[in-house]
Amino acid sequence: MLAGLPSRPASIARRYMFDHYLEAAVLPNGFEIRCRPGEPANEKRREKLYAALELINSLDSRRLRRIQGDISYMVVSWTDHAYYSPISNAILLGSSDVDRASPGMLASTIVHEGIHARLHSGGFAYFPGAVRNRMESICVRAQLSFTKKLSHRDYPGIWRSIYYIVHRLRVGSWSID
Ligand SMILES: [Zn+2]
Repeated sequence: MLAGLPSRPASIARRYMFDHYLEAAVLPNGFEIRCRPGEPANEKRREKLYAALELINSLDSRRLRRIQGDISYMVVSWTDHAYYSPISNAILLGSSDVDRASPGMLASTIVHEGIHARLHSGGFAYFPGAVRNRMESICVRAQLSFTKKLSHRDYPGIWRSIYYIVHRLRVGSWSID
């Protein structure tokens, strides 16, 4: 899901305050990760995100640099699915997803959300309807081309995931993520 445009300025303030309440740490590759403060799992979450980002780096280093240039940080919090937040200029991931996912699966998600960030930085606003469908289609295509480079070791269940992505493209089914 993409956060979309806030209906009230107050929601911008809330988002902003929330991000600043989080525990920020910078990975060795320069990515800033913000987690809920004081959770013992945070170290493991950062390690897994680092592995995911390094996987992107090993397969497509230009893409990783673009993502790094386009977003300000990444957030691991309560969200039930990943999205790019234009308000924070950040990729938001659910902590339970990060806990469960393989580095490959996270890498695939980050690539998708990274395209949303790129489109946003290029001045393309996210609107419901045809525009959203077109943007999701661009993100899913990039995600697919990246995911095909991953191995089963990086991403157990990768073939099912690729099948699902191809199916989404074929039927034009765009969930808002
Ligand atoms: Zn999307």
